[in-house]
Amino acid sequence: MSKIECFEIGEFGLLIHGGAGAPAQMTSSQSRKFHEVLENSLKAGWAELKQGAKAIDAVMKAVAVLEESPLFNAGGPGAVLNSQGCIRTDAGVMRGEDLKAGGVTDLRGVLHPSQVARLILEKSSAVLLTSEGAEKLARENGIEVHEDENAFIIESRRTQLARAKARSSDGMSTDHDSETEEDEAQNLRDKIGTVGVVAIDKNSNLCAVTSTGGRVNKPIGRVGDSPIPGAGYWADNESLSCSATGVGEAFLMAAAAKHLAQAYSRPVTIETALSNTLREVERFHGDGGFICITKERIGAWAYNTPAMYRGYMDSKGEMKTFIV
Ligand code: ASP
Repeated sequence: MSKIECFEIGEFGLLIHGGAGAPAQMTSSQSRKFHEVLENSLKAGWAELKQGAKAIDAVMKAVAVLEESPLFNAGGPGAVLNSQGCIRTDAGVMRGEDLKAGGVTDLRGVLHPSQVARLILEKSSAVLLTSEGAEKLARENGIEVHEDENAFIIESRRTQLARAKARSSDGMSTDHDSETEEDEAQNLRDKIGTVGVVAIDKNSNLCAVTSTGGRVNKPIGRVGDSPIPGAGYWADNESLSCSATGVGEAFLMAAAAKHLAQAYSRPVTIETALSNTLREVERFHGDGGFICITKERIGAWAYNTPAMYRGYMDSKGEMKTFIV
């Protein structure tokens, strides 16, 4: 059964997510840290929108805050490890006014993979670039690519990988998976995830971005839903913008983000479209969630996991963040 909520955004605003999964057992100071990063992300994006910037500039500012935080599975510090113990990140961004998208997969040593995705959107004739090509484009455009690809690894991710391997040597798990309650309490950081932002600006432009380290213990070369337009994100000024999180293989197979936009294009409510799309994801044995903004300026989120880290800020400056 999915949990779905909708609210009016007003003239401009944004929604963010920090991954869907199991609620973590946290002290109040630990949960405060998560709220703080979510709030800083919302404020950074909102300030852009308030001064009349385009939705793409707002989502880039907001996602950068999440990518920089070790609390989330994206960008540099915080990204989960693949089966070789390395960070390989994926990100994608799409603009609703001209339907242009850029996605980067298997990126090494970059703090803000979303910025490389934006470069692809703006400067490449390709929609998707993988590691070498994307890193070359990044360097040519002044984005730092660390020589030491392990520069961003944090210790708790090594422990998480060892646990995932002990469970199943070749099985992937989402960042949030845990076996027992004990495991859950012990591994607070496992409950955090992929990040995404959707925004609408004063000129009714929609934009969506998703950024992730992918799934724990993923095989070399694995590509999830997050960098693929139509799977992990979508933006179309004629319907909606959305960003997904969850079991990437299922979101990919369900073409989940495009499915949501198409489901909403018919005369149905956004609640119905979200619930139908998550049901489609379930058919591929996956769970997770979405944030979205419709062209009518309705913000919404939905998830079929026990929790999703999320928040919104509307045009009046009302801000709310949730970690359950
Ligand atoms: N969807 C991401 C992936 O499969 C993982 C996540 O959202 O936590 O790469």
